[in-house]
Amino acid sequence: SYVMYNESIIPKEEAAISFEDRGYYFGDGIYEVIRVYNGKLFLQEGHLERFQASASKLDLVVPYSPDTMKSLLRRLIDKNGLTTGYIYFQLTRGIQARDHLYERGTAPVLTGFTKTAGVPFAKQTDGIDVYATEDIRWLRCDIKTINLLGNVLAKRAAEDHHCAEALQHRGDVITEGSSTNAFIVKDETIITHPQSNYILEGITKRYVLQLAKQLNIPVEQRPFTIGEAKEADEMFMTSTSVEIVPVRSIQGSFEAGYGHSPVTRELLGEFRREVELFEAG
Ligand code: PLP
Repeated sequence: SYVMYNESIIPKEEAAISFEDRGYYFGDGIYEVIRVYNGKLFLQEGHLERFQASASKLDLVVPYSPDTMKSLLRRLIDKNGLTTGYIYFQLTRGIQARDHLYERGTAPVLTGFTKTAGVPFAKQTDGIDVYATEDIRWLRCDIKTINLLGNVLAKRAAEDHHCAEALQHRGDVITEGSSTNAFIVKDETIITHPQSNYILEGITKRYVLQLAKQLNIPVEQRPFTIGEAKEADEMFMTSTSVEIVPVRSIQGSFEAGYGHSPVTRELLGEFRREVELFEAG
């Protein structure tokens, strides 16, 4: 397979990263993941805008224009013949002898790969169990940084408790999953954490809220508590890779269970129809 290395698309075996890359020493970099359906990039604009925003927040300069980025992504997908899956790309601050103090003007390093990955239909149908655990991350969760230790530990804890995803909470407030946004439904209203420094504002989240609007489902973007999650009628998670998955049960810090989830299923039905149109278009 081929990978992206700055402006080149090269065989994976030929790609080499410097020992002194700041991504390796400090997790000093950012990333994005974009869904590919039928060889086409889904919600590409939103992902590229967030990539640029993450870079700016870290005083990083994306060395390529949005058009160049798009053509690099396109070339890699074509070269690998990817149909259904995702493209991952990251930008680190580049190569410098190890020092907390970064120099400005160091050439950043862009890398990327593609992966074939189907839509997780079984999870979408059956729902998943999630593991509630304290959110121990830093206070800039709005930045899509490759520094993911809090998320990584939460995901491992979930798996160790036979759960498919973590559900993080800061004290009483539910923030998000390890790589997903969290939503509850109460009396047919969707409630989800607002955009803030406590969560990564998902591109899928935004898309799903747009679908909710089209379907005339009321939405409240505000922090919600563990107590509200326990009392909710439904819970679901969203991300680029899972789209929308219903939550079946919550374990860990607290417990809850959900039934048929009609609002979640309505949204998922609409999401799938839109993707099928996108694939065909
Ligand atoms: N929250 C976190 C912490 C994530 O890492 C991700 C995606 O990886 C999401 C939410 C979902 O974001 P998106 O819908 O843009 O994939």
